[in-house]
Amino acid sequence: MGMRLYDTKAQALRDFTPIVDGKVGLYVCGPTVQSSPHIGHLRSALVYDQLRRWLNFSGYDVTLVRNVTDIDDKVLQNATEHEPWWALAYRMELEFAAGYRALGVLAPTYEPRATASIQQMHAIIQRLIDNGHAYPATDGSADVYFDVRSWPSYGELTRQSIDNMEQAADADPRGKRDPRDFALWKGHKDSEAESASWPSPWGDGRPGWHIECSAMASRYLGENFDIHGGGLDLRFPHHENELAQSTAAGHGFANYWVHNGLVNVNGQKMSKSLGNSVYAADLLAQARPIVVRYYLGQAHYRSTIDYHDNALTEAEAALERIESFLRRADRRLAGTRFAGTGAESIPDEFREAMDDDLGVPQALAVLHDTIRSGNAAIDDDDLRVAAEARGQVWAMSNVLGINPLAPEWEQAGENDSHDVLAALVTRLIDAREHARAGRDFAAADRIRDDLAAAGITVEDTPTGAHWSIDG
Ligand SMILES: [Zn+2]
Repeated sequence: MGMRLYDTKAQALRDFTPIVDGKVGLYVCGPTVQSSPHIGHLRSALVYDQLRRWLNFSGYDVTLVRNVTDIDDKVLQNATEHEPWWALAYRMELEFAAGYRALGVLAPTYEPRATASIQQMHAIIQRLIDNGHAYPATDGSADVYFDVRSWPSYGELTRQSIDNMEQAADADPRGKRDPRDFALWKGHKDSEAESASWPSPWGDGRPGWHIECSAMASRYLGENFDIHGGGLDLRFPHHENELAQSTAAGHGFANYWVHNGLVNVNGQKMSKSLGNSVYAADLLAQARPIVVRYYLGQAHYRSTIDYHDNALTEAEAALERIESFLRRADRRLAGTRFAGTGAESIPDEFREAMDDDLGVPQALAVLHDTIRSGNAAIDDDDLRVAAEARGQVWAMSNVLGINPLAPEWEQAGENDSHDVLAALVTRLIDAREHARAGRDFAAADRIRDDLAAAGITVEDTPTGAHWSIDG
């Protein structure tokens, strides 16, 4: 039996069949690098890391492309006089990379930046103009819009009819045929940095967000590829628009659409205005990175996670059960004929759970059952069964990336995780100083409060801000 995945477009579980036998092309929407990574970003990257590891384990050669949206409205908005948009984008890209690496998220096969695929975006836009699905704005703005009324299947991903859809707020509606038409190309505005402008057949400007992903996906995975992933919040308008413009340009695009659930904080949606964001740095200050990985990865990928204080405690205990069983088994088996012989194999129930739409909660239940029976076998001196359980626990926790004794975590010793934490906290403190320099005291206080909630105290001294972990 192979794998099945919940396809958002079909709204059903579907057997997974790759386009090319033995290979999988997986495109995941990466971050818009406008501000620090938060818990939702980490979860999304982790979900596709689990999927990729499982596909790899199942024998597929996976090409994972996760982009960096380094040009977008929000990146331009958050740039300052002292930090141009491209410097901000790169600083944030480094933060995201540090957060992903800390959690053991394997690097994507390719990680393209949007600004390096402008030509590929132009080619798709030109094709859409040529075949009547896009048009340059009539108001002299140099914008180019997708003509939603020209594409009868527009709305198919989220099953909406055009008349009930929200208007696209991405550009001035004056130049649009329909207020729902969305921007493929955005003409340069005098208020925006010169450096955020590229020449195009329709006038200088920059790409719309959606066309970036369409161009990068087809450039690196081909016009038809296997799986497109991203957070549930990206279904509309982002993915609906990606799908419309790519298929209208003649691309087969994604065969499966996979969406991961979001992370709430104390029952509320995370938002800038509520000031309840939980940053990567906050989490990594509270627990070892492997604990954070266990916590964010234990729920089913489509469910919502509700983060609350002490949320990591249970994950810490679960991980300790894995670690102490592996150490106990190794101690007991040392010097016996079972030492090191526990074949590293995956129980069938674990495989079935993972094949069933990446059923990590059920897979973890198998893992913990195996630990229980392994411990019982050690109690009974049944070393053959103990060795078998040890091999299985080792293999299962490796596939999930949560084997505390695996080299990937042993290398990430105390010093290393402290370095990552220090880098992330330092950047938050920089952001706070930026906010204060810009007299945005509310934002500055929010960052300080977030850090305080994570047990990090920031002290302002004549030589700058210093931080320490409470207790
Ligand atoms: Zn995208």
